[in-house]
Amino acid sequence: MLYINGEWRKARSGKEAEVRNPATGERIGRVAWCGKQETEEAIQSADTAFQKWKRVPAGKRSAYLLKAASIMKEKAEELAETITTEMGKPISEARREIQTATGYLEWFAEEAKRVYGDTVPASQNDKQLMVLKEPVGVTAAITPWNFPMSMVTRKIAPAIAAGCTVVLKPAPVTPLSAIRVFECLHEAGLPKGVANLVIGPAEEIGPVLTKSPVVRKLTFTGSTAVGKKLIRDSADTVKKVSMELGGHAPFIVFADADLERAVQGAIDAKFVNNGQTCICVNRIYVEEKVADEFGRMLAAKASALKIGNGLNEDTELGPLIHHFAFEKVQAHVRDAIEKNGVILCGGKPYKAEGLEGFFYEPTVIHHANEEMKIATEETFGPVVPIFSFQDEQEVIEKANRTRYGLAAYCYTNDLGRGLRMMNELEYGIVGINDAAPVTVQGPFGGYKESGIGREGGKSGILEYLEEKYVSIRMM
Ligand code: NAP
Repeated sequence: MLYINGEWRKARSGKEAEVRNPATGERIGRVAWCGKQETEEAIQSADTAFQKWKRVPAGKRSAYLLKAASIMKEKAEELAETITTEMGKPISEARREIQTATGYLEWFAEEAKRVYGDTVPASQNDKQLMVLKEPVGVTAAITPWNFPMSMVTRKIAPAIAAGCTVVLKPAPVTPLSAIRVFECLHEAGLPKGVANLVIGPAEEIGPVLTKSPVVRKLTFTGSTAVGKKLIRDSADTVKKVSMELGGHAPFIVFADADLERAVQGAIDAKFVNNGQTCICVNRIYVEEKVADEFGRMLAAKASALKIGNGLNEDTELGPLIHHFAFEKVQAHVRDAIEKNGVILCGGKPYKAEGLEGFFYEPTVIHHANEEMKIATEETFGPVVPIFSFQDEQEVIEKANRTRYGLAAYCYTNDLGRGLRMMNELEYGIVGINDAAPVTVQGPFGGYKESGIGREGGKSGILEYLEEKYVSIRMM
């Protein structure tokens, strides 16, 4: 169903699309599949609602978000199952995603009350200078499938908190998760039109959102290629844009590091969500003298990961989301082998009875080189190459030699080196001896072609605010 102006609706054409479980291929639902007209109606509804919502006191806006978070928590188990059946991640990870998704609602409910302005010292006694913060306006939000609930709340919570209204287009492979979040907002009594949901083809909905002069803000999470297109398409109406795009994270291990911890860190930061996250490790750099040992230890742990249907409690790796993802993983592995990479584990699809989806074995490739596709392209799957290096300067240059700049990781027991790496890595997120740096109170976002703006943290809400400078002459 679509959610427009506070009502659950079908598409005007009556069209529907199927949703399938990527682990089993089973059909798990049907959703309304809309187009241009419903998107225009959703924008109209958001625009009408904005005129009232921007005047609702921050404390009240906050209360709606807190209520929605508490409803989501009550339904946590059922929501986690929706995530797992729709996109395949292990149920334990889906439960963590619900915590993050509700965490964003709660964090921005608090931030709503802290949108302070400024007074500015004037250069004349008869003037009073102030800076006010105001909501940007109607916001279009476009989200990917890999975190189908937390990516939604990471956008709509700060928008609603700031006093904006929203039209969300989720990824078409994970619409049920978005519907579940909207059910919680509806149950929380959010006034009609404040949040609207459209589900349908990107090529129809996208241009309506980007070309509309009513939409003042576009927030997008997805690939860098699509992000660039959306920036271009938004240029004619000069929208404020935030872009959370692709990544190519280096994971650097110095010989002085605790290798056990580094290996576990690499497992966590590579194989979470089956390698389908923007901050997943894409390149492991290990100091040459410990590279073989690290490779053996990593392959031993990776090959022990349990593959299966995410609904089984012991599953650690689910399926890839679709055929294209599977093809890309296979192409990267084939290419690495052709270019003299050595497969330490995995390297082939995983097959088992009852699993019809696109499963691939966790794969570690040793002796990687910069000619390989995997060295520069996002794999988005359970495959990781190991490169070796001799010294700090060399690895800093190699780690930074990419058009991406989202997340980077470094393992070392030398404090000075850790601090130097913190300063030198050209990335928006840096984990030093920490493979899980992301948290709702930290700003999330990338340098270079990994994006524009930040989500979460105290800066997250600023993306949805305009500054109005006021000068008052008192005499
Ligand atoms: P994608 O292909 O860029 O799609 C993301 C969303 O954009 C989907 O809803 C997609 O719908 C929509 N879309 C595509 N073309 C569009 C257009 N012309 N107009 C409007 N909407 C359009 O990315 P994905 O494969 O879903 O996600 C994986 C990518 O997201 C990776 O590159 C990953 O690194 C990145 N990502 C980044 C972050 C971050 O925070 N930086 C977080 C998660 C993922 P359709 O499916 O219908 O095309």
